[in-house]
Amino acid sequence: MSEHPRTPAQPPVGGSPKQNSYEPVIGLEIHVQLKTATKMFCGCALTFGEPPNTRTCPVCLGLPGSLPVANARAIHYGLVIGLALGCELAPRSIFHRKNYFYPDLPKGYQISQYDEPLCRGGQLGDIRIHRVHLEEDAAKLIHIGSSGRIHSSDASIVDFNRGGTPLAEIVTEPDLRSPERAGEWLRLLRATLRQLGVSDVNMEEGSLRCDANISLRAAGSEHLGTKTELKNMNSFRFIERGIRAEIARQQRILEHGGEVVQETLHYDPASDRITSLRSKEEAHDYRYFPEPDLLPVAIDEHMLAAAKAALTELPADRAARYERELSLSPDSAQLLAFRPELGGFFEAALAAQGDASAQTLANWVTVELAARLDDGDPAATGVTPRALAELAGMVAAKQISVGAGRQVLDKLVAEGGEPQAIVDAEGLAALDGADELAAIVAAALEANADAAQRVREGNTKAIGPIVGHVMRETRGRADGTEVARLVHEQLGV
Ligand SMILES: [Zn+2]
Repeated sequence: MSEHPRTPAQPPVGGSPKQNSYEPVIGLEIHVQLKTATKMFCGCALTFGEPPNTRTCPVCLGLPGSLPVANARAIHYGLVIGLALGCELAPRSIFHRKNYFYPDLPKGYQISQYDEPLCRGGQLGDIRIHRVHLEEDAAKLIHIGSSGRIHSSDASIVDFNRGGTPLAEIVTEPDLRSPERAGEWLRLLRATLRQLGVSDVNMEEGSLRCDANISLRAAGSEHLGTKTELKNMNSFRFIERGIRAEIARQQRILEHGGEVVQETLHYDPASDRITSLRSKEEAHDYRYFPEPDLLPVAIDEHMLAAAKAALTELPADRAARYERELSLSPDSAQLLAFRPELGGFFEAALAAQGDASAQTLANWVTVELAARLDDGDPAATGVTPRALAELAGMVAAKQISVGAGRQVLDKLVAEGGEPQAIVDAEGLAALDGADELAAIVAAALEANADAAQRVREGNTKAIGPIVGHVMRETRGRADGTEVARLVHEQLGV
């Protein structure tokens, strides 16, 4: 529909412009530190947290006359990542020198891959992968500034321990459309990489870092707008917030008739502000050329077979199987699949067969058990899959109430044991005989006469104190639904 010049302007909604006039287009570049024993091109050990500049050699310090040798394990991990993401593996790829001067790069160039990367194409979930390549990390610069701002430091010091660490750079196509989706997809990628065992994927320690390319376009348009690059975000929360802040910034510019300038940006989570690191004019010309000191990477049958053997069922496939075969909700399926230790526990509990359905069992694992584990492994606690299956079955069969089930689980996690024995010892069995419960409900109505009167008058929320009274009297053994039913029955409403 073409715009007519006489069409009156849209009235502002709540003082702000309408939300859906622009569509964000987001692509991600993820740097993954590979979990090798040694650096990418030398034999220096990779251990986190060592004293500064104690893990260096002539190769990673860029001293004259030293020669790099590519780390076979890093190449193996690169192939495993490529296979897991469904990439096309290059039979032959080469390393390039990416030239630039910076204090964290003693050679004056970074060894990376350019137009012949290890892997191309691929897909994870519904997001397409553009390429995956291998490179070395730069050293770590630490800015010591009185103002605390990155660009106004009084001094910078450098730690070469990180210099030469193997990285896989994973570049997506610009398929993401919201900050939330970007965060969600990154979580899937992290779960996948963690399961593959190729990286610690620890964002705080910097073993997973993310840049985002962001542009806006008119909703419905196929034309891509000018993009900016948001650098080096290292927490899921900051990534989502940074992308959101940059989308808002570009939207303000476009709505005021301005133009987005192509530049590299930094997001400061403390102030929620975006600052420019460099504009397109200041962009480096990296003068890429093939690294003459390294052989091309040629994938032979042996390397391919080893990479294939390292693949197990990946989180996305596992989640799809839970939905397809067990009819789990997408949320439960994802929670179990993204934490293999929970997924394994759930499958063992399912195999142990209680009376609970797969979804009920999944809820016990992802909600109740997970809440008691924090980020830990259920195998490190007292509860066994069989005990949880039995407990979920007892609750499903109304042998015990949900509240009593939670108390039993507390015990199981802390001390282990058999659910039935805990129920017997603690006297947690559901009240059998409606008469006993009916008498307790009658007493609760008497003790909460005001609340009872309000329920009679139609105030449904007033039932709270009455149910609470019954639960206290029965120590959580009563079934909440049954209590509510009896309350209404005895009040005649
Ligand atoms: Zn070294």
